Amino acid sequence: MKIQILYDKESIMKSLYTGWGVSFLIDGRILFDTGEDGHRLLNNIKNLDIDIEKIEAAVISHDHWDHAGGLWELLRKKEGLDVYICPNFSAKLKKNIERLKGKIIEADRVTEIADDIFITGEIAGEYKRRFIAEQVMVVKTGKGLTVITGCSHPGIVKILEQVKKDFPGEKIYLVFGGFHQMDKSREEIRLIAEKCKDMEIEKAGPTHCSGYDTEMIFKEIYEDNFVFIKTGQTFEI
Ligand SMILES: [Zn+2]
Ligand SMILES: [Zn+2]
Repeated sequence: MKIQILYDKESIMKSLYTGWGVSFLIDGRILFDTGEDGHRLLNNIKNLDIDIEKIEAAVISHDHWDHAGGLWELLRKKEGLDVYICPNFSAKLKKNIERLKGKIIEADRVTEIADDIFITGEIAGEYKRRFIAEQVMVVKTGKGLTVITGCSHPGIVKILEQVKKDFPGEKIYLVFGGFHQMDKSREEIRLIAEKCKDMEIEKAGPTHCSGYDTEMIFKEIYEDNFVFIKTGQTFEI
């Protein structure tokens, strides 16, 4: 299955916008997050020669501007688009989706949204000492599961344990996205990276809000199985 990086902090091509937030396209048809800005997202979709007509649904990981910010322009182009959110996202976000005629689908548990493409449904997280709802995507291929995260406010280990519980007996092949560990010490980050290794997760690609130390420590521990995530990349899972 093909994964394309539509938006992140670094790029492999000059014609693409980069910045805060993420947007990933799975199998040319399911969007996971929309980055911080719709014009930037649409520019990148165009410059990567992606057929916007083939995008069937957008999954929003959590209700933060750098993940939902591009949704509004996308909905203006694609009225009636399926938008997967969590029940506890803000009323404001839900109202905005409705106003732009997106079709809201709320998931509180594991849901298969396309063949072998799942969302976990709402996982409770914390941001600035307040509750925040977040969901992650899970893609099943012959190599195992790929877990795609937005910011990981519930904590990357909690998320991975939840996925393990929801998909018993399945191996996690790759985890990538935001791990949100900028506030953690190097020792804490090292324990988390080692925990990922203990969980037999083969490859890891922390990016976005993961933090410099997280990227460095995961690179050291994962060596050749560290995955660089940059706007414009395509890879097969
Ligand atoms: Zn974020
Ligand atoms: Zn966030």
